[in-house]
Amino acid sequence: MLARSWMKVRMRRIIHIDMDCFYAAVEMRERPEIAHRPIAVGGSSGRGVLTTCNYEARRFGIRSAMPVFQAKQRCPHLTVLPVRFELYREVSRQIREIMHTFTELVEPLSLDEAYLDVTHLARPGAEVAAEIRANIYEATRLTASAGIAPNKLLAKIASDWNKPNGQFSIPPSAIPAFVKTLPIRKIWGIGPKSAEKMAALNVNTCGDLQAMAKADLIHEFGSFGLDLYHLCRGRDERPVQANRIRKSLSNERTYSHAFTSLSSCEAALERQFEELVEDLKTHAAERRIEKLFVKLKFSDFRRTTVESMDKQPNWKTYLALLRTAWGRSGESVRLVGLGVRFAEAHRGPEQMELALFPSESSAREW
Ligand SMILES: [Mg+2]
Repeated sequence: MLARSWMKVRMRRIIHIDMDCFYAAVEMRERPEIAHRPIAVGGSSGRGVLTTCNYEARRFGIRSAMPVFQAKQRCPHLTVLPVRFELYREVSRQIREIMHTFTELVEPLSLDEAYLDVTHLARPGAEVAAEIRANIYEATRLTASAGIAPNKLLAKIASDWNKPNGQFSIPPSAIPAFVKTLPIRKIWGIGPKSAEKMAALNVNTCGDLQAMAKADLIHEFGSFGLDLYHLCRGRDERPVQANRIRKSLSNERTYSHAFTSLSSCEAALERQFEELVEDLKTHAAERRIEKLFVKLKFSDFRRTTVESMDKQPNWKTYLALLRTAWGRSGESVRLVGLGVRFAEAHRGPEQMELALFPSESSAREW
């Protein structure tokens, strides 16, 4: 009985919406005459790296973060278009408005991705997700994919399952079977190197990971080991945070090949810097910045963070921070992160706690 009421209180219904190759899709909509051709967006930065590409281009093995010259080798007739953030931001606002007609609890992750908590709606999550996607298509002529699950971790994994223009539900009863065979790479925080390390221990799926003792996970992965203990069981208690007061904004990326030279690391940082600048415009235009920081994770899993008191995000400072961080280890670099920390802000309205009180029907109807 106790267990049941615990389940009831904790049971959320989360939808993760992810637009399909968003920037490229917007460009295809705007330029129907070339929509059927392989298209990529980006490549205008100093290093000439693609931001995203359409599915036609993906058939040639082209993917985001690929240098333009390499993409052109794989597909000589690839059309590379400049990034038009202003336009994407406008479409993104439109999509966000549609989401808000379903719930106040919308947590954007980027221009084309968001979590929605729809626990309070007395309808199956899959039905709500289908309607959101239909409304988005109706308004924008763009397709989205959705994942529906009791938590953020699984909703995000699920939105990738039937991509593009599809959706996938993981009801509570399906979680144990779903995570059993789920590759550990699908869990946030597990990069290629950690996956490799685990593969050496014969751990490839979340089911394998479940067999590891909590103490061993902590020994292997530090505090993240404790997260892993829960994540590999499909548990994730993070609430959807609408209107959250961010303390910082950053992006970090784990690379499949470690950087052994400072210059290759700088190239990666530059791409991420451009993304950060865009994210700041989207999510934190009015916030006062207190510090800039760069974070690196090395091949031996050690991490380091270097900060500066600069109030303006600028490439020169980030480059200097990267060089300092790089100098702290002789190891190659697996993960590159950069961001800003904000000055204290007045607290906004407290987050709605609707999610904690699902109706009886919502607990049943999946
Ligand atoms: Mg997307």
